[in-house]
This record gives sequence, C-alpha cells and structure tokens, in this order.
Amino acid sequence: MGTQPEIPSRWIDQAVQAALAARAQAYAPYSRFLVGAALLDENGQVAVGCNLENASYSLTLCAERGAVQQAWFTLQKPWRLLVVASEGGVTPCGACRQVLAEFAPRLPVLLVDSEQPDARVWTSVDQLLPARFELSRQASSPQSPSGDSSSNVTDGSIEP
Ligand SMILES: [Zn+2]
Repeated sequence: MGTQPEIPSRWIDQAVQAALAARAQAYAPYSRFLVGAALLDENGQVAVGCNLENASYSLTLCAERGAVQQAWFTLQKPWRLLVVASEGGVTPCGACRQVLAEFAPRLPVLLVDSEQPDARVWTSVDQLLPARFELSRQASSPQSPSGDSSSNVTDGSIEP
C-alpha cells in the first residue's frame, strides 16, 4: 500500500517489538483478538497501547488510542511511526483513524502480522482516512499541556 519512511531500521524494529509486547498484554476475553500498538517519536522513544475490552462492548478501548494517550504525555512531537500488531496484520478501525489524524494526519503506519512479524505492510493515516473530518481551530483554544504550541501545531494537526 505504501512505502517505508526514512526511519532508522533499528527504531522500526524496536517499535515492532514494543507493539508485539503490548499485544501480549492485551485484555480481550470476549473476542480473543489481541492488538498491540506502538508510536515512535523523533528520538526513537516509543509509547504503547493494547486493546482493553469491556463486558459492555462499546466501552472497549483500542490499542491505537491507548498508544495515543500515552504518547501525548511521553513522546516528543512530531510522531514518526505507528506500528499495529495483530493476527493477520489488520488496519486501525475508523474511530482510531480519525483520532490519529487529529495529531498526525500523514503518519506512516506499519501493519504487522503477529504470526509472521517479518511480513510487514506499510501504509499511512492519510491513505487509511483520505477525507477525515476537520474543524478549524480557534486561536485561543488550548493546544498543548506543555504550553509550547507555536512551533508545530497549525490547524490542529501535529505534523510528522
Ligand atoms: Zn480502533
């Protein structure tokens, strides 16, 4: 689908391993479908998430959105890569695509089949969600908990 971005291969491998390790921590007693996600930043740091299911199914949290939540606090922006690890190497769901597009609309995405982690499929958030929902930001709206919002935030996106 896409091409591999210019990211050190050891960082990519590190993110793949982190996504696979996160997948192993997934809580999916209902579907038994385990997913792990890892976001990578400019410095090679990684934030992870796994799916957390709930008996009230609609409260289930996807791995990708879990990783976004952790990355918001622990990674530098822009984010460079998302790795999603699952059986069969599935793509992020529509809700996660919209959440990812909020922060990194052109983020490269690597889909990894947990059964054969070397068979990798490259895509990107804009390929997965070409016509995302957008609102223009108001000048006074809060941008970042750090207060450093002037450099890389434009229309609400934190570009890769
Ligand atoms: Zn999702």
